[in-house]
Amino acid sequence: MMTNSKLFSDAKKVIPSGVNSPVRYFEPYPFFTKKSNGAYLWDAENKKIIDFCNGYGALLLGHRRKEIISAVSNQLSKGTLYCTPTESEIELSKLIIGNFPSIDKVRLVNTGGEATMTAIRLARGFTKKKKIIKFEGCYHGAHDSVLVKAGSGSAHNGISVSDGGLDEVSKNTLVVQYNNIEDLQKTIQKNKDIAGVIVEPILANMGLILPEKNFLSDLRKITKENNIPLIFDEVVTGFRVAPGGAQEHFGIKPDITTMAKALSNGFTIAAVGGRKEIMDLLSPGGKVYQASTFAGNPISVSAAIASIKTINKIKNKLYSKLERFNLLFSTALDDMATDMNIPHQINFTASMFQIFFTNKPVTNYETSKKADSKKFEKMFRTLLKRGIFIAPSQFEVVFLSDAHTENDLNKTLDAYDAALKSVKK
Ligand code: PMP
Repeated sequence: MMTNSKLFSDAKKVIPSGVNSPVRYFEPYPFFTKKSNGAYLWDAENKKIIDFCNGYGALLLGHRRKEIISAVSNQLSKGTLYCTPTESEIELSKLIIGNFPSIDKVRLVNTGGEATMTAIRLARGFTKKKKIIKFEGCYHGAHDSVLVKAGSGSAHNGISVSDGGLDEVSKNTLVVQYNNIEDLQKTIQKNKDIAGVIVEPILANMGLILPEKNFLSDLRKITKENNIPLIFDEVVTGFRVAPGGAQEHFGIKPDITTMAKALSNGFTIAAVGGRKEIMDLLSPGGKVYQASTFAGNPISVSAAIASIKTINKIKNKLYSKLERFNLLFSTALDDMATDMNIPHQINFTASMFQIFFTNKPVTNYETSKKADSKKFEKMFRTLLKRGIFIAPSQFEVVFLSDAHTENDLNKTLDAYDAALKSVKK
């Protein structure tokens, strides 16, 4: 049997740092997954692990969900890539538009980063302006315009602006504090050249940070008054917090929306959609260029159709179950940490939560950065020893899926009990 340690030393020889995405690395070495099913992963050493990373939020319905596997298997027998239009793309677009009333037209891409890159280019093409505003700690993918004071792996690895990224690009990205509407207002007043504002409506890349009351509605009001397109990056929240994403949850209509992750429950697909007059600027009809060989590939499209149909069918049970589990879990965790006298905060909503080791409420990048991430890492390691996998960074969130059972959650709470004791030492 191959061990995780042997696989990692082999991987390092042929893959930079042994991983294909930075957040997958943790000390001393990551485990290597052999297979997954429902709520579980099995590693190279045949250890069964309860998964709370869930593809960084993609696997809302759990691993190998039967409706999706059967749709994809069916498509596999008909071909994997045509690079011509298909009827399924129309079906998927109609489903997305049905769930997201702010979207008139949608273009399919492959990754969240590609979707935000296209959204920003569209906003620039539409307004003929240059600058974009993003919020500190929001993560929108690994491209130059948004890799500025970003969360996720970029915050975890202390890379605020990447080497190799162009200053000429990043200087056109203005960064304002999350949950600080005055900061946004001042930035808009000082700069006349703003093409768009991009935001994670729930910040899920700095740990979990919730938008304060009125933050999103004020953001919508101010951008509208100033004719600035508002981009909701719903790569995490789309389908996860409601069938129509955070915009349904908060009742706010952005001009452009990006989505990925739970759109297909584990296949490579993302989408950018929005108002007709903006979306029609995309080539070949318009002059905003965007293209991809794998865009709208029939495998991912079949997975996304099956995902949305499943979500829409079971939505009444799905979201209330996940919210109930989250409330029970987060409350129990809070009580546990309080009983142990560990200074902490727990932020939670829908099917996401995170614990921070700090005595101050976590409402933005700064307050999240002040939490004790060494304690978080200690907690992470104890959890993993006990067969619980959460994303290995303070700047990510814990994701519940429909596959988790009450029994899984009870086991996980026991593991958190041990993990908090290890933090306390
Ligand atoms: N936007 C958000 C909100 C994300 O969380 C992520 C990825 N975690 C991205 C964009 C980038 O997506 P991808 O990794 O698919 O490029």
